[in-house]
Parts: sequence; C-alpha cells; structure tokens
Amino acid sequence: MQWLDVRSDTVTQPTPAMREAMFAAVVGDDVYGDDPTVAELEALGARMLGKEAALFVPTGNFGNQLALLTHCRRGDEVILGDDCHIVWHETGGAAVIAGVQLRTIESELGVLDPRAIEARIRVGEDIHFPRTGLICLENAHSNGRVIPLDVMAETRRVADRHSVPVHLDGARVFNAATHLGCDVREITQYADSVMCCLSKGLAAPVGSLLAGSRDFIARARRGRKLMGGGMRQAGVIAAPGIVALRQMSGRLAEDHANARALAARLAALPGVWLDEASVQINMVWFRLADSVDVTALMDALADAGVKANPPEDGWMRVVTHWQVSAADVERLADVFEAALTDRA
Ligand SMILES: *Cc1c(COP(=O)(O)O)cnc(C)c1O
Repeated sequence: MQWLDVRSDTVTQPTPAMREAMFAAVVGDDVYGDDPTVAELEALGARMLGKEAALFVPTGNFGNQLALLTHCRRGDEVILGDDCHIVWHETGGAAVIAGVQLRTIESELGVLDPRAIEARIRVGEDIHFPRTGLICLENAHSNGRVIPLDVMAETRRVADRHSVPVHLDGARVFNAATHLGCDVREITQYADSVMCCLSKGLAAPVGSLLAGSRDFIARARRGRKLMGGGMRQAGVIAAPGIVALRQMSGRLAEDHANARALAARLAALPGVWLDEASVQINMVWFRLADSVDVTALMDALADAGVKANPPEDGWMRVVTHWQVSAADVERLADVFEAALTDRA
C-alpha cells in the first residue's frame, strides 16, 4: 500500500533529484577536509543562513548539543523556554555533553518574553552564581508557531546588553521565513549560531547544519569530532542536503497552504476544536472532544492508508510535506469527516 504519512515532516523520503545527486556525488575523507561535496554544502548553508561558516552534522539534536558545547563552559547556565526541543527531546544531553544547567522560562506558545530572559541573566561576580553562558531560541517552534521578528530583535538587544550569545534552534527556520515572508537571514541575524535541519520539510534523508562565525565553527569542528561526528565520505549524504537547500527551501509555502486547507476542513467537523490562526507552518494541531472514539478514528485512518500519530493529551497533530499533495489533503479530510460524522 502507498501510505500517506502525516506523522511528521521527518518521514519525508529523498526526492528523485536527491537520489541522483547522491549517486553522482564526488566524495573524499571529510575528516581530512577532502570532501568537496560536504564543503559545497557547508559553503552554501553558511551563505543562505547568513553566517561566515557552517558545519555538516548528523542530526539536529547533535547540532544543538554541539552549539551548547561550543558556546559554554561546564557549569554555565543556559536560558531557554520550558517547552523547547533542547529541554524536552534531547535526552538530557545538555547535562551530559556540555555539562550545563538549563534554566527554563515559561514560554507563551513558544514565544519567550525578552524581559523574562533579562531577569534571569546572572549579573556581577558573586561566586555563588553560575555564569550565564547562552540564550536559546526556537523558530519555528516545534509546536508549529513562528516567533515574530520584533521579539527576536528585542531578545538580541537583551543579549547584547549582557554580552551573552544567542543560539537559534532553527530546525524549521525555512518554514519560519516562509511564514514571515522574509529571507531566512532576517531571522538568523539575531542569533550568533543557528542549527537548521535538512531532513525535515527540506526532505534530505539525513543531516543538519550548524552555522556561525568562522571562529565558532572552527571550534565546533573540534567538538563534532569529540562527539563522534567526524564523518568520512559524507558527500554521499551531503549531496541531497544541497538539493534540499536549493530546490526544497523555496517550496514550503505549498506545505503551509495544504496545512491551512486541511485545517479549514477539520475545523468544520463535529468533535474537532481547531484554531485556524494557529496554523502558521506545515503543522495542524487540534483537540478532539471526549465523545470522539479515538480507536475507531485511528482504525479508519489506517484502513485508508494514512499513517497518523494518535492524539496525546487530547491533542492531535497532522503534518504536511512534499509527499502530501492538495488532493491528499482532501482525501485525508474525507476520512476524518466520515469517521467523525458517523461516530462523534
Ligand atoms: C526535530 C527538531 C530537532 C532535532 O532534529 P533531529 O534531526 O531529529 O535530531 C531540534 N529542534 C527542533 C525544534 C526540532 O523540531
């Protein structure tokens, strides 16, 4: 069966152009600095992300943890949102790899109040205090929300007042730029370093980029080796990353439009609570009424060849990507409609 997989944008398969690029990739030993395809990806990524240099890393998780390791000293404090990926979904790596302490602040749907950040920056020489080593932002947030540029700018001003660097978890930064209708560099200008996933909506099979100043990336290259991320003929997996940046970063508006179309249909169904204004990127979040027979709904989706994650705490998430067409969205909405109007 040809599955329609809407669990995440991580499920995307490489495009035919990516497979061809992998086949044709010129490779070398990248630990020696000999892989021209990796070098090309890193140069392209640095340019597109508006930074001096970039480093190819195996995963987004790796890139974030490498950023913490490179920016911070052991025992430093990192200020970040209580619902961010680094806190929730990176296996506590910050304590193990960089040896830092995470100081969370309440996030308002992914947005951190710059004043709340400033209030937590350690000031003075009190030997009791950890040093504030870093501020981390996430844009787009993995809850599907985009952080407005003025909030990013104000956070930058706070960081500059206290000489604290800013790392941006930009796993979906191209989705954020697409939503804001701006160049991705208008977002990344407010961060010292940025991590961007090639393997989500951009559809590369593996890989992420960490970008920053030339000096920062030189140090990160050492840290990547320490973390076991020195890869050899990595051009084979860097080649689809080049295609991801060149061909896929500009088409995300399609995924966003499909998500909005799906949201409009789902919002009209009985037993569904959905705020259409919350659909900013390729993610549709909605609540199901207690009366909805979730098992029957999940069975109906599976029977129709749809892979979807079941609701968690009553919330369900559907994600669009290049392998979900406008017609697929209508078909998916039809399955929901049949299941919910029969059984809600
Ligand atoms: C997916 C994601 C990551 C991690 O990326 P992996 O490649 O899955 O390790 C980091 N941050 C955010 C916000 C993400 O959505």
